[in-house]
Amino acid sequence: MKEITIAGGGLAGLSLGVALRRADVPVVLHEAGRYPRHRVCGEFINGVGKETLSNLGIAELFSNAVLSKKTHWFMGSRQMFEGSLERPAIGVSREWLDLQLAGMFEGLGGSLLTGSRQKEMRKEGVVWAAGRRGKRKSKWLGLKIHVANLQDLQSLEMHMGRGGYVGLAPVEDGRVNVCGLFRLQHYGGRGSDMLWNCLASNGLNRLSARLQEASPDPCSFTAVSALGFGGQPGNEGLMALGDAESMIPPFTGNGMSMAFEAAETALEPLCKYSEGKESWEKVVQDVRRSLRARFRRRLLMARIVHPFLLTHAGRAFLSGVTRSGLLPFKPLSRALR
Ligand SMILES: Cc1cc2nc3c(=O)[nH]c(=O)nc-3n(C[C@H](O)[C@H](O)[C@H](O)COP(=O)(O)OP(=O)(O)OC[C@H]3O[C@@H](n4cnc5c(N)ncnc54)[C@H](O)[C@@H]3O)c2cc1C
Repeated sequence: MKEITIAGGGLAGLSLGVALRRADVPVVLHEAGRYPRHRVCGEFINGVGKETLSNLGIAELFSNAVLSKKTHWFMGSRQMFEGSLERPAIGVSREWLDLQLAGMFEGLGGSLLTGSRQKEMRKEGVVWAAGRRGKRKSKWLGLKIHVANLQDLQSLEMHMGRGGYVGLAPVEDGRVNVCGLFRLQHYGGRGSDMLWNCLASNGLNRLSARLQEASPDPCSFTAVSALGFGGQPGNEGLMALGDAESMIPPFTGNGMSMAFEAAETALEPLCKYSEGKESWEKVVQDVRRSLRARFRRRLLMARIVHPFLLTHAGRAFLSGVTRSGLLPFKPLSRALR
């Protein structure tokens, strides 16, 4: 069987690596970083089907996961919406999940090279799962931290501020992940202080105080900028999966599911290539087409809704719509399946 090389050991790369190894395909996976590591991520997986996790052979990892059935949205300190999710969201830290997937991949005989940053290659047998491309002119800043001992968490919480939003999601070991996306500007302070300053600047002072009164873990603080959403440019002829292919805005909590679904989509064509039954060019073409068809609707929906969360006028509109009970939450939620 022909070998597959994967660049990028995030969720798309690792889950694909596991699934390919289960099909006896030889796989070498290059990851620029090392495990375990914290990542800027809301750490709730919204919309992923059990079938996808089973097809990838990773369902067992989620058997004891924290599940959230509801979401609560706040504007300032006022709750403006409470809704039930189509499928319970899975709360899991990336620190834990990526490490488990990496262990599973190696346990199945996959060759994992950490600290190995690859150059983008349009080469036969190479899958590019190295995450989103940095966007120089991006106006967004993503921040994340874990807190313990947060007593009054209402399942999944989403708090809207003046120039962004922040989500609270319960993950394993009683911890709560706090992750926000805000307009990029100088908030002052370093590490977790930057996050507290950012929340205060965005009118979320009470939330900031509430989180600081719990037990924030400064070692889990991470930040990221240069974010660009939607279909990623320059992928012609490249077998790109996960964020490297398209990145959905974080409020949906669907990016991790898309990474798994992309791996699931690519699995069978890659097995055919490895067995010598299909040419590489045909496999790349087929996978790109299937990914576009699978994700088109949800990317469009997210692109329409996202600006409402980020502008004053948009939030005022959203607030009015939710108060009058007209928010089409169920159709929106369904679009992410
Ligand atoms: C602020 C924010 C909040 C989010 N919240 C959520 C959420 O709540 N729920 C959700 O489902 N999704 C969320 N997402 C999106 C989610 O994190 C991504 O969609 C998901 O991580 C995509 O997985 P991936 O494997 O494609 O990419 P990644 O997880 O980014 O993995 C890419 C990997 O490639 C490695 N790499 C990079 N360059 C190279 C290279 N040249 N060579 C080798 N390795 C390389 C990186 O180190 C990394 O490990 C959020 C994203 C942001 C920015």
